[in-house]
Amino acid sequence: MSESRLREEICRYGRSLFERGLTPGSSGNISLRLDDGGWLVTPTNASLGFLDPARISRLDSAGRLVSGDKPTKEIPLHAALYESRGSARAIVHLHSTHAVALTMLPEIDPRAALPPMTPYYLMRAGETALVPYYRPGDPAVADAIRGLAGKYSSVLLANHGPVVAGDSLEAAVFATEELEETARLYLLLRNLNPRYLTPDQVSDLVQNFGLDLPSHHDHDGHDHG
Ligand SMILES: [Zn+2]
Repeated sequence: MSESRLREEICRYGRSLFERGLTPGSSGNISLRLDDGGWLVTPTNASLGFLDPARISRLDSAGRLVSGDKPTKEIPLHAALYESRGSARAIVHLHSTHAVALTMLPEIDPRAALPPMTPYYLMRAGETALVPYYRPGDPAVADAIRGLAGKYSSVLLANHGPVVAGDSLEAAVFATEELEETARLYLLLRNLNPRYLTPDQVSDLVQNFGLDLPSHHDHDGHDHG
């Protein structure tokens, strides 16, 4: 896909996410990794609903601004996830209500923030890690993400929002949506004693769809280093 086409895709998905109320105001950001090692990133203080393809920040492989507006100050998040997930081509970060709500609940397991509720959550988002609260733009959040050693493509930042990597922009967007909807299901069903997928049902999905779930790393013998 040409760079101009990719710029348009960022704007199209950004508008779609914004119009569905998945990230308010000027929150949220999207990045794409290009073939030359550089990136396209949404600008700082830009609403995802009103992006201009020509003003998207173009960075070189060293992260220097080549053209467009000043990039989002949440660059360290994106950089850390690209660094630890070699296959990632796109990253979506939102301030989506249900995913943010989930991060504040006391029972959340930081290595599996959501239980296995639906097959599509596992197939698109995998399992989700939760990292502690950091001030927006704090470079320390990058260390927290690196500390996950690339095992997770979806990460929740406490009291802030999800950061999700995909091998395409579409994959990253769909995974973020799946994470948000699954967080919503969790909140709807909390304290109602719902039936989640059983370990056998999860193993069946892992085998049939070749899922790369952190909780199955120890059992399948693969090296995901
Ligand atoms: Zn944010």
